[in-house]
Amino acid sequence: MRRGREESKVNEERGSLVLLSGPSGAGKTSVCERLLRTPEVVRAITATTRPPRPGEVDGEHYFFLDDAAFREGIEGDRFLEWAEVHGRLYGTPREPLERQLDSGRTVLLSIDVQGAEALMDRGVSALYLFLEPPSIEELRRRLEARGSDDEATIELRMRNALAELARKDRYDHSVVNDDLDRAVAEILELIQQAEERT
Ligand code: 5GP
Repeated sequence: MRRGREESKVNEERGSLVLLSGPSGAGKTSVCERLLRTPEVVRAITATTRPPRPGEVDGEHYFFLDDAAFREGIEGDRFLEWAEVHGRLYGTPREPLERQLDSGRTVLLSIDVQGAEALMDRGVSALYLFLEPPSIEELRRRLEARGSDDEATIELRMRNALAELARKDRYDHSVVNDDLDRAVAEILELIQQAEERT
């Protein structure tokens, strides 16, 4: 997020990758939406085999693929990482991400914790951010408030969240999503600091 520089200069430099992960219910979607209001920040579009939700557009929210096309992508090594999340396949296509980075933008990649760890293990250079719910009680409240999951699914998500929270030390920073404005401001500051160091 190279603020205050001329457009021509921006495009000469390769952009930086910001990875945002954390348990479901931590608020990644709201945080991403807010970060994307910053013009220098673009979102990496990932691929999934889950069906689109109402209002979701192919190539904008996700690349919606069927199982065969996704498997073909895995075999062709076209994903930087992929994972099965809640019974569906999700993966980060390499090529569009590389193109976004080449354009000099700050590329925001919001993926699940397994995917983030796969990128760390592969030595992919990024600013690794973990988004934390303010408390376990608040996480349960948020998952229940969504109204989209039954009790068993909420219990599963809570168990997964506890296991994921235990691994937050692997990230460059953990940001507590206690208040959306505050968390977004903290993340923008962390991105700015990281980009100034490179
Ligand atoms: P949803 O189906 O609610 O859009 O996303 C479910 C989870 O999958 C979220 O935690 C989201 O961040 C994650 N996700 C989205 N795209 C990818 C991806 O390309 N790779 C991985 N590992 N997780 C992803």
